[in-house]
Amino acid sequence: KGAVRFENVVFSYEPARPILKGVSFDVPAGHTVAIVGPSGAGKSTISRLLFRFYDVSSGRILIDNQDIRDVTQVSLRSAIGMVPQDTVLFNDTLRYNIRYGRWDATDAEVEEAARLAQIDAFIRLSPKGYETEVGERGLKLSGGEKQRVAIARTILKAPPILVLDEATSALDSHTEKEIQDALDRVSRGRTTLVIAHRLSTIVHADEIIVLESGRIAERGTHHQLLARN
Ligand code: ADP
Ligand code: ADP
Repeated sequence: KGAVRFENVVFSYEPARPILKGVSFDVPAGHTVAIVGPSGAGKSTISRLLFRFYDVSSGRILIDNQDIRDVTQVSLRSAIGMVPQDTVLFNDTLRYNIRYGRWDATDAEVEEAARLAQIDAFIRLSPKGYETEVGERGLKLSGGEKQRVAIARTILKAPPILVLDEATSALDSHTEKEIQDALDRVSRGRTTLVIAHRLSTIVHADEIIVLESGRIAERGTHHQLLARN
């Protein structure tokens, strides 16, 4: 479940200024596809279209062979999980922030997600544990810690489709490596779209698509792209 297909997608924010100029690719269920390319190429636009923040100008986006324009916003939101570049936490407890959107999850499930995202040790060190207040009015977390909270939330949500939009680009290289490992674990077995500006941060993609000025310039495995360039 969770196969994604872009079929000849054309999109412009403003008339007469196409940003995506006929983009087609498949992410088979359970596979990982990475979109790389220079800033401004249209990479984030691809994720915004998948979430239907905007509709395509022409072409189609399909999830499990269904046009996303025929899917309700609620089921689209529950099908797709996103780990953004900068995670903004709610002014509430760590437990609330991890559980967000999965209000039926038990405490044990929240704690298991925290363990998989490797924040359980950090949480136990805080005097109030899972009840520690975070965000602007509470404990200030580092960029890496916030990303781990976002990852724990995503693990708990367990969406069939995962979008990682520059999820580690705001972190220093040591933290980036650790978070990358956690993200690799989350994405395993899920349909994953990774958006990155550097090829070096992507290790486990089944296919890499190089986007330049709204067109696919190259595609292949990591190995094939390195051999060609
Ligand atoms: P990337 O993620 O590859 O850096 P984006 O998809 O964010 O690129 O942006 C692609 C192009 O679309 C850029 O030229 C950007 O200026 C433009 N763009 C992005 N968002 C909007 C918007 N809301 N309105 C108009 N142009 C936009
Ligand atoms: P980021 O890539 O850091 O997440 P955004 O996705 O918001 O930033 O924007 C990507 C690019 O699109 C930036 O170059 C930004 O200046 C441009 N952009 C964003 N919104 C608009 C807009 N409404 N009109 C024109 N350009 C925009």
